[in-house]
Parts: sequence; C-alpha cells; structure tokens
Amino acid sequence: MLGGGVVGCELGQAFRRLGSEVVLVAQGPRPLPSMEAFAGERVAAALRAEGIDLRLDSSLDSVAPDGDTITLHVGDETITVDELLIATGRRPRTADVGVETVGLEPGKPLEVDDSGLVTGVGGQWLYAAGDVTGRAPLTHQGKYAARIVGAVIGARAAGGDVDTAPWGEHSSTADHVAVPQVVFTDPEVAAVGRTERQARDAGIDVRVVDLPIAVAGSSLQADGYDGAARIVVDEARGVLVGVTFVGQDTAELLHAATIAITGEVPLHRLWHAVPAYPTISEVWLRLPEAYRSGT
Ligand SMILES: Cc1cc2nc3c(=O)[nH]c(=O)nc-3n(C[C@H](O)[C@H](O)[C@H](O)COP(=O)(O)OP(=O)(O)OC[C@H]3O[C@@H](n4cnc5c(N)ncnc54)[C@H](O)[C@@H]3O)c2cc1C
Repeated sequence: MLGGGVVGCELGQAFRRLGSEVVLVAQGPRPLPSMEAFAGERVAAALRAEGIDLRLDSSLDSVAPDGDTITLHVGDETITVDELLIATGRRPRTADVGVETVGLEPGKPLEVDDSGLVTGVGGQWLYAAGDVTGRAPLTHQGKYAARIVGAVIGARAAGGDVDTAPWGEHSSTADHVAVPQVVFTDPEVAAVGRTERQARDAGIDVRVVDLPIAVAGSSLQADGYDGAARIVVDEARGVLVGVTFVGQDTAELLHAATIAITGEVPLHRLWHAVPAYPTISEVWLRLPEAYRSGT
C-alpha cells in the first residue's frame, strides 16, 4: 500500500483484517499528515499493533513486476508483494472536458467563488460543485456546494436576491472554516475546522486543550475505552475553531463540534450545553471545564 493518507490507512487496516500481510509506505513521519499529530500517532500505533508493517518517512523509488509478484524498492530495501495499491490522492479530472475553450487551464481545478460560480470565465453561467473545484474533496461538502449552486441558479433565474455574504444562503462559507471529516479506521478519527497548526498559520491566537476521552459514557461504550480529544480555541473571540476526536465511535460526536464551530458558540455558552449522563458526549463537559481552569 502506497500512501499514508485517509484512504491508505482505511484500506490498509481493512486488508489486514481480511487476512493480508500489509506493508504501508508513507512519506511523512506519521500517517494522516493533514490532521492533528496525535491523531496520526494513535492510528499509527493501532495499525502497528495489528501487524501492519508501517514504513514512515519512506517513498517508493521503483516498481518491478515479475510474474505473480512485484518487487518494490523503498530506499535501500527491497520488498516483494503480490499486489500494489496506490492511494496517493486524487485530482480534478478536467484535462479533457474542453475547459480550454473558455480560457481555463485543462487539468486544473475549476476555481469557484463561494456561490459556486467559476472564476475567470466572465459572466454568470458556469458553475461547479464537488471535487472538481479542489475545495474540500468530501461527499458531504460536494452536496453542500451543490445545494448552494442549485439555490443560486434558481434565485438568479427568478430574478431574486442572491445572498453571497459569509454564512449567507448562497455562500459555501463552511468550506473555509468548518469542514468535518471522519477517518474510518479503528480507532476512528473525527475532526472539523482547523488544526492547531492551521489556525496559527492563519494568524489566529489559539489555546489548545487536550484530554483523554475518559468519562462515564465512554467506559460504558467499550471496555477499556481509549480515546483522546483536542479543542483549538480562538482566544480573541472565545470560540472553537477546531476539534479532533480519536477513539471508537467518535464520528458520532463530530456534529456537535461542527455546530459549535459553525455557530461560533462562545465557550462560556458551550459551558451550559449539558451532555446527558452517561454518554461519550460528557467529554463536552470536560473540555470547556479544562479550558476554564486553564489546564
Ligand atoms: C477510496 C475513497 C474513499 C472515500 N471515502 C469518503 C468518505 O468516507 N466520506 C466522504 O465524504 N468522502 C469520501 N471520499 C471522497 C468522495 O468520494 C468524493 O468527495 C465524492 O465522490 C465527490 O463527489 P463528486 O460528485 O464531486 O465526484 P465523483 O463522485 O468523483 O463523481 C464524478 C462523476 O463524473 C463522471 N465524469 C468524469 N469525467 C466526466 C466526463 N468527461 N463526462 C461525463 N462524466 C464524467 C465520473 O465518472 C463520476 O461519475 C472517498 C474517496 C475515495 C476515492
């Protein structure tokens, strides 16, 4: 398996659990490089514990098919495998759809404004939504963009108002600040918004709170439940800008985080969002509590 991103980790673990010997070659110091480091580290530990041969800081130099086997050269090492699965990412497929006829560069994403209107072609007639825009290549974000594009086209056709202000009806503002994503490994990784690094790079003064997911609800969810949570707080505004959970079933915690970030719910108000006992959501009590106590 080549690639330590979401697909590489998910499929590497799936093939391992189906009985394959899996070698996973990843370029960086940990898998899931676009996510918080602790998430990639926890997933790496889980993959290794299941017997996946995880080669970090590595890349594939050459491949030599030989009969039923394939020889891979990874640095100084030679690895012989039956199959090679490449999971190194996706690109918008615009090379042969004729975009050059309207002055766009083939093979590149179709850049859009927040209403889905393709930029650089003039006028209001060419829209794009989904992976082809290169924005947030996820099913739910593509559907979000499609809803907005549909509404914009309808409003313009009817001669109605178009509200493209941030968070307006016709603006896919969430693409910039509140994209949720789940990595369906075991443990799951569920994240929304910015990582600490992304927030700092965006010039936001943040404070980070890290906690284990050790609440009454988690101990009922699974014996020996082991999970971790991080919130990234914009200190100036007192709101969340990023949340990451790692652990069994954390995908179902994610939408609360998405609502908190999208709604810009102040931490002091989040404090009053009381999670039911005993659920894993009790971590939502511990996180603002830890933030308030300065730990
Ligand atoms: C292995 C894998 C796992 C994934 N898991 C998740 C996940 O768990 N959650 C999630 O949110 N996202 C996931 N994604 C991403 C998700 O699949 C995409 O974000 C989503 O499919 C994008 O939808 P789309 O309609 O923009 O593009 P696509 O689903 O790729 O649809 C594009 C369509 O256009 C067609 N097409 C291309 N060129 C032409 C042409 N010239 N003429 C006519 N038709 C054309 C294609 O055949 C295709 O049917 C995953 C992706 C991969 C590869």
